[in-house]
Amino acid sequence: MIKIVKLLLASHNRGKLNEMSEMLKPFNIEVVSAADLHMADVEETGTTFEENARLKAETLAKMSGFVCLADDSGLCVDCLRGRPGVFSARYAPNRDFDKGMDMLLEEIAATGDKKRTAHFACVLALADPNGKTHIFEGRVNGHIQEHKTGENGFGYDPIFVPDGFDKSFAEMSAEEKANISHRGRAMEKFISYLQAH
Ligand code: IMP
Repeated sequence: MIKIVKLLLASHNRGKLNEMSEMLKPFNIEVVSAADLHMADVEETGTTFEENARLKAETLAKMSGFVCLADDSGLCVDCLRGRPGVFSARYAPNRDFDKGMDMLLEEIAATGDKKRTAHFACVLALADPNGKTHIFEGRVNGHIQEHKTGENGFGYDPIFVPDGFDKSFAEMSAEEKANISHRGRAMEKFISYLQAH
């Protein structure tokens, strides 16, 4: 298994940081976040999840000298042709996701779509300050329910119901969500990569 002593998580998003730190606990990797190191947010100028994840991981790995793991993720709604997608964080005015969810529910209602299918996507980029960047992807399909339910999680969790369930991500425990989520699936691939090398 690749021994990473200290891993920098390239995010300021508390929800993501909590989920990723929790998933890394069994592997004895010391985790620090870009927020802990008072590093500035990297501007997401890419047009795909992969471009943004690479940009964040490679920039912060170079700046810090640590191996760096970045997550770029978002919610893609089919009747909105994949929006908000890479703009999921910026779609919510001033990162007010309660408001962002109301706006999204209104937009979806206006399309008249009954299926309301959507997926969450996550791309993780692992950048070594002196080496290559590796990419791990995860996705979970589901639909957008008409109202928000649940208090757990973060972002758009209260409106997203994964396939095979009749409750939102925000009604699940952290462990339950991690087992099926886009981030959980991408993290599983990342951990298998560490174990295989
Ligand atoms: P970014 O990757 O930092 O650009 O932000 C991704 C945005 O997508 C987050 O701010 C959330 O709004 C949303 N998002 C990503 N993953 C999740 C999730 O697991 N639950 C709810 N919202 C998410």
